[in-house]
Amino acid sequence: MRIEYDIKLGFKDVMIRPKRSTLKSRSQVDLNREFKFLHSNLTWKGIPIMAANMDTVGTFNMASALSKHNVFTAIHKHYSLEEWNSFLNTSEKGIEDYIAVSTGTGSQDIQRLQSIFTKHPFLKFICIDVANGYSEHFVDFLKKTRDQFPDKVIIAGNVVTGEMVEELLLSGADIVKVGIGPGSVCTTRVKTAVGYPQLSAIIECADAAHGLGGQIISDGGCTIPGDLAKAFGAGADFVMLGGMFAGHTESGGITIEKNGKSYKQFYGMSSATAMNKHVGGVADYRASEGKTVEVPFKGDVENTLQDILGGLRSTCTYVGAEKLKELTKRTTFIRVAEQENQIYS
Ligand code: 5GP
Repeated sequence: MRIEYDIKLGFKDVMIRPKRSTLKSRSQVDLNREFKFLHSNLTWKGIPIMAANMDTVGTFNMASALSKHNVFTAIHKHYSLEEWNSFLNTSEKGIEDYIAVSTGTGSQDIQRLQSIFTKHPFLKFICIDVANGYSEHFVDFLKKTRDQFPDKVIIAGNVVTGEMVEELLLSGADIVKVGIGPGSVCTTRVKTAVGYPQLSAIIECADAAHGLGGQIISDGGCTIPGDLAKAFGAGADFVMLGGMFAGHTESGGITIEKNGKSYKQFYGMSSATAMNKHVGGVADYRASEGKTVEVPFKGDVENTLQDILGGLRSTCTYVGAEKLKELTKRTTFIRVAEQENQIYS
C-alpha cells in the first residue's frame, strides 16, 4: 500500500484570479475552437461544450437545439438504427459535425455501430464509453475500432490519469474522456472509493494528451457556469455536461407533476432506473453506481446555454483572453476555502 501526499483539487477548491485586460466587452470574446485530430486527421470548429451520452441528456432533440449554436451532443447508445435513420433524414445538413455515435464494448454494440456507419458513412464521431477505461478489454476494443474506422474521430474514456490518457491515444483515440466519480448522479466514489478530484484530473490529463497531440474532454462535475471556466482554465479542450443539460424540453426522461410544479426524471446510466430500462434489471454480481433524481423543469435548453456561454465570455474578459483558446494560458488558480455567498440561497 502507498499514499500519495500531494493534494488533488476539485472545482470548489479554487477560483480564477483576475488579470489586467484590454478587452472592452464580452461580445469581443470568441468561444469557438478549432482542432485537428491526432489519428483521423479531421478538423473541427465549434464551441467545445458537449451534452453527455446519457439517455436523459444526449437525445436527438438536444442535438437539434445545440447544433444551431455549434455545440456538440454525444448521442446516447440506446437509439435503434431506425431512429437514427429518421433523425438523420430530417436533420439539417452539417449535423454530423456536432454529434457522436456512442457505443459500449459488447458484441451487440459493435454490430449496432457498424450498421449505423454503413447506412450513414458521412457521420464522423464515435464515442466509446465505459465506466472503467483502465480495462484491457476496453483498450483492445479501441484498437479494433480504430482499425475498422481509420478516418473517424474516436472519443474514448473514462480515465483520470496521464499514463492511461497516453495509452488510449497511442491505441487509437483522438480525444480522451476524463472523469471518474465527479458526476451529479454518480455514486462510484460512494460504492467503490475510487475517483480523482476533477480539476487535478484535467490538469494532469491535459498535459499528457497535449504532449502527444491529442485532446481531452472534462466529463462530469460541473454544476454552475463557473465550473466550465475552471475546467477550460485547467486545460480541458472540451467540457461535457450531464446534469446542467438535464430537465429541459429537449432532455429525455419522464415528466412528473407534483404540487403544481413540473419535474423531469434524470438518472445515471449505471443507476437501477437505467439498468431496469435497458438491460432488464441490475445483475446480481454488481451494485448500481448511479442515482435517480427529479430535476425541476428548466424550459428550453437554449436559455441555459446562453447563461453558460455568457458566463464563459465574462471569465475571458476578467483574465484578458480574447479567445477561449487563450484561457488556460491566462489562468492562475488560487486555492480558496470558500466559494459564493449563500445567505440568500
Ligand atoms: P454531470 O455533468 O451530471 O456532473 O456528469 C455527467 C457524467 O456523469 C456523464 O457524462 C458520465 O460520465 C457520468 N455518469 C453518468 N451516469 C453515471 C452513472 O450512473 N454512474 C457513474 N459513475 N457515472 C455516471
